[in-house]
Amino acid sequence: MKILQNKTKILDNAKISEGYYKITLQAPLISRIAQPGQFITLRISDNYRPLLRRPFSIHSVSGKNLEGAGRIEVLYEVVGPGTELLSQKEPGDYLDVLGPLGKGFSMFDTRYSILVGGGMGIAPLYFLAQRLIAGNTPASSAGRQYARRNTVILIGAKTKKELLCQKGFANLGCGVRISTDDGSAGFKGRVTDLLRIILRARHATERTTIYACGPKAMLYCVSLIAGRQNIAAEVSLEEYMACGLGVCAGCEVKTKQGYQAVCKHGPVFDSRVIKW
Ligand SMILES: Cc1cc2nc3c(=O)[nH]c(=O)nc-3n(C[C@H](O)[C@H](O)[C@H](O)COP(=O)(O)OP(=O)(O)OC[C@H]3O[C@@H](n4cnc5c(N)ncnc54)[C@H](O)[C@@H]3O)c2cc1C
Repeated sequence: MKILQNKTKILDNAKISEGYYKITLQAPLISRIAQPGQFITLRISDNYRPLLRRPFSIHSVSGKNLEGAGRIEVLYEVVGPGTELLSQKEPGDYLDVLGPLGKGFSMFDTRYSILVGGGMGIAPLYFLAQRLIAGNTPASSAGRQYARRNTVILIGAKTKKELLCQKGFANLGCGVRISTDDGSAGFKGRVTDLLRIILRARHATERTTIYACGPKAMLYCVSLIAGRQNIAAEVSLEEYMACGLGVCAGCEVKTKQGYQAVCKHGPVFDSRVIKW
């Protein structure tokens, strides 16, 4: 698998809501080979504060034709010094980008695709929805209609204020369902409760795939729901990581095949493989 390291120009770095930003990078080579679920690491400063590169999911690949697109977007939340510094970068600045890294989502020949995003876990799912609907190559309009009807995203957040990307997913044409813990928007409760309801309504079959990203407890719950109903589920895990290349073993998780590095064997895993 090809991994590139480039000084990459920032085209935009916009605040989208309090504490959340979207950065657009001119990355023609990475955007051409990236797969949904893969990530990049950014060296945010030229000195050693912060020392380590920071990992971020590829949120979208933009351009008219996904094959020829030259930009990638990263959606991020300011949580500490690295992301604080990132939020101060300006269009025209350059960032050292390494990627695409890791193993992304499998694009199964699936009938229903149910995407489940909790909090910032929404970040990689937009790129996935882009590919599910448009494919790698321009699809026929009937094919796109079919994919739109059969792709639904469940977006979960604590409150309405933390909901992200509703409009973006709606513009892609897939079904969008919302849940908030406090009921300030959409279904009141956890996004996994909403998943149970959707599965019941859709009479999910073996041709359904669940793709999930979010807090570990949410992913565990998704894996239980999927396992009970014998539905395929892929989960994208987040662990602290240092090298991002599978060398330092800092981000290993317990799986049925032994310890595996999230940065190399994941971040996307078959939910049945993880020892929760
Ligand atoms: C594969 C992968 C993909 C990611 N994609 C995104 C993304 O698309 N958007 C985004 O905003 N963030 C993403 N993250 C998390 C992101 O890497 C961290 O938020 C970032 O490194 C924080 O750096 P910092 O210096 O600002 O804060 P730090 O000082 O490093 O951390 C501040 C606090 O943030 C939390 N935190 C930091 N890193 C992680 C982590 N890896 N897992 C869980 N909690 C963490 C902890 O609570 C920590 O105390 C991803 C992480 C991984 C491993």
